[in-house]
Amino acid sequence: MDVTSANPRHVLQTVFGYDSFRPHQGEIIDRVTDGRNAIVIMPTGGGKSLCYQIPALVRPGVGIIVSPLISLMQDQVDALQQLGIRAAVLNSSLSAGERRAVEAQFAHGELDLCYVAPERVMRSRFIEAMQQTRVALIAIDEAHCISQWGHDFRPEYLQLSQLRETFPHVPTIGVTATADPPTQEVILDRLHMTGDDLFVTGFDRPNIHYTVVPKKRNPKQQLLRFVKSEHRHDSGIVYCLSRKRVESTAAFLEKHGFEALPYHAGLSAAKREEHQNRFLREPGLIVVATVAFGMGIDKPDVRFVAHLDVPKTLEAYYQETGRAGRDGHPSNAWMAYRLSDIVRMRKMIQSSTENEEYRWAQHHKLNALFGYCETTDCRRRVILNYFGENDLPKNCGNCDNCLRTVDTWGGTVAAQKVLSCIARTGQRFGASHVTDVLRGADTEKVRKFGHQNVSTYGIGADRSKRAWRSIIRQLVAKGMVQVDVTGYGSLKLDESCRAVLRGNQEVEFRHEPEPASGRSSSRTSKRSDVPEEGEERELFEALRSCRTRLAKDQDVPPYVVFGDKTLLAMVEYRPSSSSEFRQLHGVGDVKLERYGDAFLEVIRSFDS
Ligand code: ADP
Ligand code: ZN
Repeated sequence: MDVTSANPRHVLQTVFGYDSFRPHQGEIIDRVTDGRNAIVIMPTGGGKSLCYQIPALVRPGVGIIVSPLISLMQDQVDALQQLGIRAAVLNSSLSAGERRAVEAQFAHGELDLCYVAPERVMRSRFIEAMQQTRVALIAIDEAHCISQWGHDFRPEYLQLSQLRETFPHVPTIGVTATADPPTQEVILDRLHMTGDDLFVTGFDRPNIHYTVVPKKRNPKQQLLRFVKSEHRHDSGIVYCLSRKRVESTAAFLEKHGFEALPYHAGLSAAKREEHQNRFLREPGLIVVATVAFGMGIDKPDVRFVAHLDVPKTLEAYYQETGRAGRDGHPSNAWMAYRLSDIVRMRKMIQSSTENEEYRWAQHHKLNALFGYCETTDCRRRVILNYFGENDLPKNCGNCDNCLRTVDTWGGTVAAQKVLSCIARTGQRFGASHVTDVLRGADTEKVRKFGHQNVSTYGIGADRSKRAWRSIIRQLVAKGMVQVDVTGYGSLKLDESCRAVLRGNQEVEFRHEPEPASGRSSSRTSKRSDVPEEGEERELFEALRSCRTRLAKDQDVPPYVVFGDKTLLAMVEYRPSSSSEFRQLHGVGDVKLERYGDAFLEVIRSFDS
């Protein structure tokens, strides 16, 4: 494709079939097209790829994209080729013959974009090839991998500093969805850039509805209720901490009539690939996975991401939940959480063999996650603040806390009971034992420590265990009680509780929601705009089969042909000519030529 020297907006419209840039996208693209650098921190689905793809097309020469994920590279290249762009990969998945063919295209200036694995880009063979051809730009995907403090540090990324030094005049753009402010600093530093080059934007994912529910004794049952009531026929991802839980949860969902595939590092590479491919290609599948799953999952219509265990950090949570709703349609991020999960994570960090500084950073990150789980304020606000994007003007109205009717009760006396019980038992015990003492339970532990004799024994017999646990949780959220970080989960008093104990400060608690009675937990998460029934539904289904057929012929995922959004636009506008078809979202010149007739025919058969 030769669009060199065309203007970026023209390329956006004719090649990609989109009307306009997203906020900051145009600015970043103009900057890189001008030969300047940029680091772009933009969430998954925000449109980072266009930030380097368009400048690479517009500038003379080949764009080098350094990317750590082989599967991601291939998907991107498939999608680009669909648009008529000359893209290729150079990585270990190629045969010697294929590699030579790509190298020849590279040398002859016949590529617009070349995706390369990081370990390969630094080999002298590749550096020489770059020196002998014209390079439009260098793009570094997943740029956070350059930071040791991040969760996916890759040593080979450190060498990318040298790449910058070897090609100081080639504009370089680093992109990532996940970098807190300290990580952003490291990226800038390693790639020899300044704060001037940094763009943090678009973290808000307004179509994702966030919910955190207290984890009960049988979390799988909670998950099932959630999936049944809101996502009966949808694609979704369920994250669990261990392989064992992945297996048992997948089996549990299968037993209840869902198609659920396990995915974890204990499965063979072939099995993992098979499950990933099925997830990408078949509608309505659920993948139950450890965090091993998902990097580079580009599927636009994942309708929910559920966490049965807490993730390690808020960044990880954001990235994992960000795999939902990339097409912009309403989607759910749902998590079941209990305090002891955080305590367990703390233990894991504490006992890890990593150095002190790393562990400290991990504790700090876990605290941010803990704050998110426990907050009674807008969850979206907590997330955006964490990333350093502070311009949410008001509460979001699309998270559980925003939607829950604020229903509080005066809990000063209850708070005093808990606080003094923690004090009387020496600030050495966890929530469960403190609750037992309050309720006057006759347990071995109570007797062992003689706690039947403390003055707070039994003063809380009037409330259930559950009620006390909720009160303790909320005191922790308010910062009046702290959970010991050394790992045993013992509760300690914070200075700030003194005023309450002395009776100088009132405390309000929220009523916790009753166990779900099958009622949908969110009213606003009415799903996508897919027509429910009738002729429109039939047309949509017909278009979808047309897409499946075209995708199968080429062995690519269906959304590479057209996204749902484009199919829905066909249903809505019913184009009857090529020029009308070309107006649809996601239709550029090449796709019009390749697929226009096939889809127009389907539409015609409905209109006649
Ligand atoms: P990221 O790399 O940030 O995860 P992508 O670049 O893959 O996100 O973009 C996500 C989706 O949004 C893709 O389907 C992409 O084509 C689409 N997209 C990106 N920019 C625009 C735009 N300006 N207008 C419409 N769609 C866009
Ligand atoms: Zn909110």
